[in-house]
Amino acid sequence: MDTSPITRALFDEVMMPNYDPAEIIPVRGDGSRLWDQVNRDYIDFAGGIAVNILGHNHPKLVEALDEQARKLWHISNLFVNEPALKLAKRLCELTFAERVFFANSGAEANEAALKLARRYSADHNGPDKREIIAFKPSFHGRTLFTVTIGGQEKYTEGFGPLPPGITHVPFNDLPAFTDTISDITCAVILEPVLGESGVVCATIEFLEGVRRLCNMKKALLIFDEVQTGNSRTGHLYAYMGYGVIPDILTTAKGLGGGFPISAMMTTSAIAASLSPGSHGTTYGGNPLACAVAGAALELLSDPALQSGVLRKHDIFMDGLHRINKRFKIFRELRGKGLLLGCELDKEWHGHSRNFVKVALKEGLLVLLAGPNVIRLAPSLIIPDKVINEGLQRFERAIISFTSQYAPYAPPSSHS
Ligand SMILES: *Cc1c(COP(=O)(O)O)cnc(C)c1O
Repeated sequence: MDTSPITRALFDEVMMPNYDPAEIIPVRGDGSRLWDQVNRDYIDFAGGIAVNILGHNHPKLVEALDEQARKLWHISNLFVNEPALKLAKRLCELTFAERVFFANSGAEANEAALKLARRYSADHNGPDKREIIAFKPSFHGRTLFTVTIGGQEKYTEGFGPLPPGITHVPFNDLPAFTDTISDITCAVILEPVLGESGVVCATIEFLEGVRRLCNMKKALLIFDEVQTGNSRTGHLYAYMGYGVIPDILTTAKGLGGGFPISAMMTTSAIAASLSPGSHGTTYGGNPLACAVAGAALELLSDPALQSGVLRKHDIFMDGLHRINKRFKIFRELRGKGLLLGCELDKEWHGHSRNFVKVALKEGLLVLLAGPNVIRLAPSLIIPDKVINEGLQRFERAIISFTSQYAPYAPPSSHS
């Protein structure tokens, strides 16, 4: 038996180099706390990138997983299963949607949504209405289609040729969008709050304008709520807070509370274009994932949990503003619900990665959202006491960060 220790160094020997993981290896979690191999504790404001929406090891999710694990794991889509039907029924009751498709990741849900939009257009508008409009910056996943939709060169470089028929417009820029959408546009996809790209909220005018123009041009409007969904913003889905209803909605991340599952939801009229055999996935909608997501949804759709998200938003914001008054390293604190962005001041731009590293040393997990923004996406039920303890570590991280890294000073124009 191989008894050699499992260390971070092993990553560099046996795994693909497409990630750059932290130096510690977390081994155990409970609520909003984590422990590493040497039993050091961490407070989790990162939530596994907005996934562990009910913290780690939530007893109700563990129970659902355990119960289903003893019954049936996988049966394939040659059969339907009870947990999938229950979950789909509940999602239809709770949202505008009338039909649900399950997949395993955000990218897959978006891939399904984009394929459906193209096919719906082919069915109803003929072969020439194919263009998809997306916004810059945004993030929709890493398949070739979704990464091209995202439009960030750093993620598409070297992977071409890329799928054609995709146009990009600056986010929140309604005049630019108005100039771009046309009779050949078949779908428009957007994140109501940019997640990976800096935690920027769509303005209500922008979303209402996009909706109006999509109606005029008969283009389907897709909301990518992979990150903003599942009560993350204090509403079950962010579209509910805006009062702007999409034609297709995708979600993932928090949906399974840590178990991989995603969903693409739409009306029955649009869903009709995915006729039998037109699309599919082996694991999508498997009983294990759907049982866990069903248990998560029951908790996440509780209005008391949702008002708790808004209250905890205020605790975070008050704490962050107080800290920033003292240290003045952030130019803006923003976000919705428990998806928060702290944009570094100009002189610290480019340093988000360093901040995340320093915070980890202080026992705090935070995320970045691009080079200039620190992102927080904690559990929606993180206790107030843990928020405050985490904010103390955040403060210590700022002290350590500002002492280690010199702020960027623009080169003198007289040199
Ligand atoms: C994370 C994310 C995705 C991709 O999800 P994966 O599960 O990594 O495929 C897509 N869209 C948004 C908005 C996301 O935040």
